[in-house]
Amino acid sequence: MNIQERFINYTKFDTQSSEESESVPSTSKQLIFAKYLKEELEREGLEDVEMDEMGYIYATLPANTKDDIPTIGFISHYDTSPDCSGANVKPSIVSNYDGTDIELSPGIVSSPKKFPELLNHIGEDLIVTDGTTLLGADDKAGIAEIMQAMCYLRDNKEIKHGKIRVAFNPDEEIGKGAHNFNVEKFGCEWAYTIDGGDLGDLEFENFNAASGKVSIKGVSVHPGYAKGKMINANRLATEFANMLPAGETPEETEGYEGFYHLLGIESGTECAKMNYIIRDHDRGRFEDRKVFFKRCADKMNEKYGEGTVTAVVSDQYYNMKEKISPNMHVIDIVLKAMQECDVPPKVEPIRGGTDGAQLSFKGLPCPNIFAGGVNFHGPYEFVSIQVMEKAMQVIVKICEITSSYNK
Ligand SMILES: [Zn+2]
Repeated sequence: MNIQERFINYTKFDTQSSEESESVPSTSKQLIFAKYLKEELEREGLEDVEMDEMGYIYATLPANTKDDIPTIGFISHYDTSPDCSGANVKPSIVSNYDGTDIELSPGIVSSPKKFPELLNHIGEDLIVTDGTTLLGADDKAGIAEIMQAMCYLRDNKEIKHGKIRVAFNPDEEIGKGAHNFNVEKFGCEWAYTIDGGDLGDLEFENFNAASGKVSIKGVSVHPGYAKGKMINANRLATEFANMLPAGETPEETEGYEGFYHLLGIESGTECAKMNYIIRDHDRGRFEDRKVFFKRCADKMNEKYGEGTVTAVVSDQYYNMKEKISPNMHVIDIVLKAMQECDVPPKVEPIRGGTDGAQLSFKGLPCPNIFAGGVNFHGPYEFVSIQVMEKAMQVIVKICEITSSYNK
């Protein structure tokens, strides 16, 4: 089976995850696809193929040499985003793309004027949707690439490699993919998520993240007789918001710039609640931001009385760079593999989190490599077959280079 056939088969399964659900996986339809993947791994001759009751799948490609080589792993998620339907996906192939508008369905057009990323793929074969659902290249392209790479290594025994582990998991799109991932069972020294975007993406830095919850207690008095008595929680909420630096918001920042983001306000005269998220790549600056946030509440209490404003800050996740930096060989190997496969690396900090960050803090250093999908989470999502093939080659090359790691 070639890589596009494999991928197109996967897109026929609706594996949308759900934020509202408490069960694991969040939707039972994900388990139908998980079972299919388990059977495919068995059919392709992988060993120790296991699926637990939550839908986490683990498998092994055994070493083909007796050399002492670190065990490494490759991970992809099989759920698709709750943001856009993943039911009845109708993929089609645009062969030898010529750089013009693509009519996905009558009246639905994917245009390079709106999506200039298309122009990076002239001459390639693109898999697109009919414009009514997402495609699911995020992250079924990653699964197809890992599967294809394992088959390639199985068939080309002259390429020496150590024990390779593979894992496919549910619920990444709702931020829970790593929660039930069994790092001990996986048993790798390091691993890679194949879940990045276009050709060359390599990510090993993400935000440090915290939530900030502010509660404000006001005093309600008839407005005609309120002088010196009323404390208007609405007004205090805006005062608090204005104490945070005006330029440090998501809409004013990029790259390594951190921010405070006001997610929502609920407010009346008597009481107000504000929900913030706090983000920064740098751990020191992250800690400073949290201190500053709480100090704003202290200052308001000095002015309006103790207990008027409460600010509670809770950490959510951390920058995986902390765990990758002492293990830079994990990155060096990818960069070398990309170079040998003629893939120009694009290293950029993620302005969010990833499963790999959580796995890194669970003891499994885990950067993220491109899977090829573009315009994720929407009906204009597409993936280039040639980019998928490159990702597959990079995976094979990583296994090959790792085999001489101990030398
Ligand atoms: Zn993804």
